[in-house]
Amino acid sequence: MPLSPSTPAASDTHDADAASFITFNARNVSSPIIISAPHGGTDYPKNLLGGVDLAAMRTLEDSGTTEIATAIAKSGRPAIIATCPRALIDLNRPKDALDPRLFPDAQAPENRRWQRHIQAGYGIIPRLSADRRPLYLEPPAPDTLKTRIDIVHTAYHQVLRQWITGLSKHHRNPLLIDIHSMPQARQDQTALPDFIFGDLHGITLPQYLKDQVDRFMQQTTFSWGWNHPFAGGYITQHYGTGNRAIATLQIEVNRGLFLTRSGADAKMLESVSDCVTALIDSLDDRLKSSTRTLL
Ligand SMILES: [Zn+2]
Repeated sequence: MPLSPSTPAASDTHDADAASFITFNARNVSSPIIISAPHGGTDYPKNLLGGVDLAAMRTLEDSGTTEIATAIAKSGRPAIIATCPRALIDLNRPKDALDPRLFPDAQAPENRRWQRHIQAGYGIIPRLSADRRPLYLEPPAPDTLKTRIDIVHTAYHQVLRQWITGLSKHHRNPLLIDIHSMPQARQDQTALPDFIFGDLHGITLPQYLKDQVDRFMQQTTFSWGWNHPFAGGYITQHYGTGNRAIATLQIEVNRGLFLTRSGADAKMLESVSDCVTALIDSLDDRLKSSTRTLL
């Protein structure tokens, strides 16, 4: 299906936050599935680049995910894609994942799960690159960073919550899919599979959808695994647990599938995007055939 006529026109992009994310098909409720891609942004504002190590910042990008999520949006499903780089704000962290080295007044986060990420330098405002180099010669003032969190994080998650509320009126079981990309290997150089699906170890995705993912992947030539070492971040957890929970699934795509020495290979990226789109189509069919929609 083509993109909806208003996409990606300005009317379908949040005016106030046009610099931090784009949305596709925001008003389409025909599918129970919505897509999020929080880590692929590459818009580094020029006025920010004085005291930062841009090369270090770029190591935090989930490269390829903007292209994959945009390809999935061609099916007409709502998709929100961060354009603000992860190095500037990590939308897959809770607002209180504040690093005391950047925020001297920071308290420990409510959910202690995030403590080790913060200590490692990867709170909501990252302090280190993927290879643990400092991002800043001198970090911005805490108030500047807090304003960034208030504007960008609030706006991204407001869209997701609005979409979920809207979809819940039309579909019994909406599903949020959060798209990420991962390195080829773990830090100890053990290879990672082509895809890792995360549902917080069986908490956020019903078994019949998990079975559908496995059935679909068995028909492909790709390798895949569940939850190790990526079980799902804040988005998977926040929207997939608690009393307003919907089904959530995190997909980590191995960058080795499309990254070459000269960057992302368009053809390779296309074949990955085709696979993920077909997987999501099959989940959509499964959701529609197994649950009574409220349309
Ligand atoms: Zn990511």
